[in-house]
Amino acid sequence: MSKDIFVFIECKEGSIRKTSFELLSKGKELAEKLSSELYAVLLGFDTKSLIDEIKPFAHKILSVDTELLKDYRWDTYTDAMEYLIKKYSPYLVLGASTITGKDLFPRLAARLDAPIVSDAIGIEVTDGEIKIKKPIYGGKIISWVTTQNTPISIVTFRPNSFSIVKGDTAAEVIDERLEISMDSRINTNRIDKGGSKKVDLQEADFIICGGRGMKGPENFNILEEIAEILGGRVGASRAVVDSKWRDYEDQVGKSGKTVSPKLYIGCGVSGALHHTMGMDTSKVIVAVNKDPNALIFQYADYGIVDDLFNILPALKDGLKNLKQEA
Ligand SMILES: Cc1cc2nc3c(=O)[nH]c(=O)nc-3n(C[C@H](O)[C@H](O)[C@H](O)COP(=O)(O)OP(=O)(O)OC[C@H]3O[C@@H](n4cnc5c(N)ncnc54)[C@H](O)[C@@H]3O)c2cc1C
Repeated sequence: MSKDIFVFIECKEGSIRKTSFELLSKGKELAEKLSSELYAVLLGFDTKSLIDEIKPFAHKILSVDTELLKDYRWDTYTDAMEYLIKKYSPYLVLGASTITGKDLFPRLAARLDAPIVSDAIGIEVTDGEIKIKKPIYGGKIISWVTTQNTPISIVTFRPNSFSIVKGDTAAEVIDERLEISMDSRINTNRIDKGGSKKVDLQEADFIICGGRGMKGPENFNILEEIAEILGGRVGASRAVVDSKWRDYEDQVGKSGKTVSPKLYIGCGVSGALHHTMGMDTSKVIVAVNKDPNALIFQYADYGIVDDLFNILPALKDGLKNLKQEA
């Protein structure tokens, strides 16, 4: 039975998303342990320049380049992935737990009657057996999951779960040509670019998140300045988004985005379960809250009990000075 691994390459606005390079890096490590091949699966239109970026990360690149795959659609992408999986019979299919991943992979699992483990944060091979690390019960428990009696398993991972390690392979490129049909009942007339920020929230290494304690939308300027210094992104709690202080695309939590940055700083965020479910796998958590009993401190590696309006200007100046010295 093949132990080959597929990594689905996700693109956004013509560029490969960082999370795909993370998955390729991890996929390569797994393929070495399983003595198998790592395939990068690139679907899209006019993707030649992207292929060169992937070459050092994979053994093989399966490329389907057609105008019908220019933008993500559930029908065309599911069909193309199903075709390639049936043709190459990989043992593992890895993807990102992004909006696209959450749409595509459950459909694919249903089509292929394959098990899917979603929103995982780690994967290991021990004695040839795959073990997948996955938070459950809103992150209160970390479970290790194996899939059994199945020729293929699908796993999606939170962005920022793995480091990027550039390899030295020059992947063989396989151009696949396949019949793709669109569901004629759905027609995309126009795609308008949203006001998307420089760094994708789920892929940001640094997030400074404001809660209701920020008191109003105008006070988020200082969070923007700090995020700018550190090359990160501003996040928000749902209370903030519901108050229309920030856009929904900034929301962290159960009904927002799940994030795992290297550093998360929560300012005036209480730490309600629906919020922490979306950020508790952050590598380092810092909380600023004037209430010493705020729940967020139970998750924090470092806590500052104070008024955030005292702390944030000092934090901004300190970071600015550090950056100038560096
Ligand atoms: C189905 C469902 C889904 C949900 N999904 C989400 C989600 O995706 N994301 C999410 O965030 N929430 C979500 N919620 C809401 C969640 O339960 C909380 O209500 C919300 O997270 C609270 O936001 P908050 O921490 O900003 O506000 P609050 O709970 O009001 O907390 C404000 C905090 O600021 C502190 N504070 C106030 N002033 C200052 C100051 N000057 N200096 C320092 N600290 C100060 C206070 O001590 C307090 O701890 C969901 C709820 C439900 C029911």
